[in-house]
Amino acid sequence: MNSADVIVVGAGPTGLALAGELALAGVRVRLLERRREEPNITRAFALHARTLELLDARGLADEVLQHGVRVTSIAPVPGSTLDLTILDSRFPMIFIAPQSGTEKVLRAHAERLGVEIVPDTEVLGFRQDDDGVTVEIGGANPGTERARYLVGCDGAHSTVRRLAGIDFAGKQYQTHILLADVHLAEPPQEAMFARTGDDGAVIIVPFGDGWFRAIAWDRKRDRVPLSEPVTDDEMRDAFHRIAGGDLGMGEPRWTSRFLSERRQASRYRAGRVFLAGDAAHVHSPLGGQGMNTGIQDAMNLGWKLAAAVHGTAAPWLLDSYQAERHPVGEQVLRLTDAFNGMVLGRKRPRSLVQALAVRAILRFGRTRRMLAGRVSGIGVRYPARGAGAHRWAGRRMPDVGRLYEQLRDGRFVLVTREPLALGDTPGVTVVRREALPGPAMILVRPDGYVAWASDRMLTPAETTAAIAGRTGHLPRKVRR
Ligand SMILES: Cc1cc2nc3c(=O)[nH]c(=O)nc-3n(C[C@H](O)[C@H](O)[C@H](O)COP(=O)(O)OP(=O)(O)OC[C@H]3O[C@@H](n4cnc5c(N)ncnc54)[C@H](O)[C@@H]3O)c2cc1C
Repeated sequence: MNSADVIVVGAGPTGLALAGELALAGVRVRLLERRREEPNITRAFALHARTLELLDARGLADEVLQHGVRVTSIAPVPGSTLDLTILDSRFPMIFIAPQSGTEKVLRAHAERLGVEIVPDTEVLGFRQDDDGVTVEIGGANPGTERARYLVGCDGAHSTVRRLAGIDFAGKQYQTHILLADVHLAEPPQEAMFARTGDDGAVIIVPFGDGWFRAIAWDRKRDRVPLSEPVTDDEMRDAFHRIAGGDLGMGEPRWTSRFLSERRQASRYRAGRVFLAGDAAHVHSPLGGQGMNTGIQDAMNLGWKLAAAVHGTAAPWLLDSYQAERHPVGEQVLRLTDAFNGMVLGRKRPRSLVQALAVRAILRFGRTRRMLAGRVSGIGVRYPARGAGAHRWAGRRMPDVGRLYEQLRDGRFVLVTREPLALGDTPGVTVVRREALPGPAMILVRPDGYVAWASDRMLTPAETTAAIAGRTGHLPRKVRR
């Protein structure tokens, strides 16, 4: 007997977002989490434009935006500026807010939709067969659970990935990352204080409650064993050498020392088992991409897995998760590796060449927009499926006339420039936007990407025929 349709492992941002997506689509989901009551360690601070758009597509962006700071330009290399207001988005910025705040909003959303989050429950093993996956668990209630699908959102050291036998090839960076949560007697003026020097880089980000996260990549401390606690003198010294001062840093309430890695799972799927978030890809924190990419993985996988559970998924639909998200993960690894090389690279000539290349990119409007698109996720585009696909297929749908509000119930949205009496089309909401750019009709997926488009208005019968099969699933029930 299945305890759920889908078991999601790990209640970090990826698992919480995925569980919410599944529950929104009427899937019974259990979210198993190893931690008892203690919160996930806050690592991420940067929320990018595309993630904010997707949160908006579920009615969560306003809540997330209540506590934090808006940053409208960044310096990809010292002395340069990338103006984010050039982004064609409702959220042309990076929003600085602690990961714990974003997780709180995602958790409340998932719980409102009926997700059962089970703490003190560690996944130890699983075996899959033709009908489902049996999961072995330890913790408060050891035993087994069974579901049709299993998703590992269990972070960089994913047990699910290891047990599925999926390779996680890559490398480890050399420079230690030192973290400390501190009070500052002289807090910086900038929302996000970042400095680089010969010894590495330092960043200060506000929690918004008087505490700050100090982050240092200090080459001089690379030989210190990772198990040794970071001392307040060590952090102050790093800031003095790299930033010219320690901003009046007080005693830390929490510290950590670790090495980041650049790795990607060779596959995101093994039969009925999927990987998402850090379980599928890890990279340098420079560029603030990890949590954003994980939430976007979840939004891509959620509606597809729901269709499979409801028995309505086209045979290709589940495989399109890997086909769409693996290349995005690869791009994120390349981008963050380039940032890491420019800021911390030991091969000076190579770092200088990279820095010169970025300055050249920033000089021209088109390449500047391309870089802003890459950093913000706005530029993500999925490969179009099938011969003769429309040029808009796979593109991110712009939020024309607050279209993203129409996505809030997780259905497909068919946007038309002229009126269309389509009648009752299961799983599809029809809306009209006279100012629709480009095509006359666009079918938007629940995750905000274009599934199908037509340059001319079709009749209702033609439309139904044209979009059948484009959704990847034909929902049986119309949810109003
Ligand atoms: C210094 C630093 C700064 C960063 N800054 C940013 C940033 O600004 N923006 C950004 O987007 N990203 C950033 N990141 C990356 C970001 O923190 C991660 O990408 C993000 O936390 C990944 O989320 P996740 O849900 O995939 O995994 P995690 O947050 O790691 O969650 C995994 C969960 O799985 C649970 N778990 C693990 N194993 C099991 C098991 N066997 N059974 C049950 N539960 C299990 C864990 O307890 C945990 O709760 C940063 C990272 C670092 C280190």
